[in-house]
Amino acid sequence: MNNKIYFTPGPSELYPTVRQHMITALDEKIGTISHRSKKFEEVYKTASDNLRTLLNLPDNYQILFLASATEIWERIIQNCVEKKSFHCVNGSFSKRFYEFAAELGREAYKEEASFGKGFYPANINVPADAEIICLTHNETSSGVSMPVEDINTFRDKNKNALIFVDAVSSLPYPAFDWSKIDSAFFSVQKCFGLPAGLGVWILNERVIAKSEALLAKGQSIGTYHTIPSMLSKAVVNQTPETPNAMNIFLLGKVIADMLTIGADGIRKQTEAKAALINNYISTSKVFSFGVEDSRLRSMTTIVANTTMLPGDINKVLEPFNMAVGAGYGSKKDTQIRIANFPAHSLEHVQALVKILQEKIG
Ligand SMILES: *Cc1c(COP(=O)(O)O)cnc(C)c1O
Repeated sequence: MNNKIYFTPGPSELYPTVRQHMITALDEKIGTISHRSKKFEEVYKTASDNLRTLLNLPDNYQILFLASATEIWERIIQNCVEKKSFHCVNGSFSKRFYEFAAELGREAYKEEASFGKGFYPANINVPADAEIICLTHNETSSGVSMPVEDINTFRDKNKNALIFVDAVSSLPYPAFDWSKIDSAFFSVQKCFGLPAGLGVWILNERVIAKSEALLAKGQSIGTYHTIPSMLSKAVVNQTPETPNAMNIFLLGKVIADMLTIGADGIRKQTEAKAALINNYISTSKVFSFGVEDSRLRSMTTIVANTTMLPGDINKVLEPFNMAVGAGYGSKKDTQIRIANFPAHSLEHVQALVKILQEKIG
């Protein structure tokens, strides 16, 4: 039996109700029934409708289920870029997204911030011929966030470009103004507290029109997971391929649980927990903030510089059945990352902070 609480930023703790929902899924034979059956269509519709409610999504936005956020990066480039994309790169995930564009034969522009730094949108000039603008709300590698107010400034200056927001490790925390962005996406193993293997893509009619226009021009936009192919099945609450039905079922159930707290309730809890962790970091002898500008500090992935090796920190936490994440990539020995997701209760965070304070200082 593993009783550890994982503050790692994905995979992470499962939402506390997942165990019960998994038993229900087995009892209802969700892993067995056909993905063309009425029952599956109900499962799909529940997940989609509940997400629409939680995110306050307008009717002109569609929800599509794919394998992962990494897949969605590729689908965005294939379906929406004929020649040129633009990327704000503020860490390893946004950088990978940028690289995908070149690997797929497009010309990619980027504005890059050094690790732990973010952007001040007033200083960013998006080239006029960029067809899409790719922003990352929460850089899970560096703990840098792009505040929603900053995301909202891109639309007016770049009327024609489609705006995509990677919100993989923050949704449902950010309250997006949907009129200011065309698309957002996430994977379920971060803030939704589910096992990995499902990516969710939210997109509006402008994104759909772009994929249809590229297809009409004779450009290859992919095969089974083109936007038109996925939409043709989504209208009947199905997917082109045999999907991760188990996870779609669990997503619908976990969002129903989240709706009892409400998106605003989740936001308040997230901020209260982040304040506890940040207060501790500001007084610690071992830790300091990985992101200097407090306005750009992530609420859901808190990154701290550490003078103690992350492995040694986790040795201290081990007897208390807790673990934090090491830094990302080259920061693996000099930073830690603490996930602050809806699955991490206030009690978990209080216990973590208390132990760190007492044992590490
Ligand atoms: C985890 C993560 C991804 C990739 O998600 P996968 O489920 O591994 O495809 C992309 N972007 C960000 C910001 C992430 O944190």
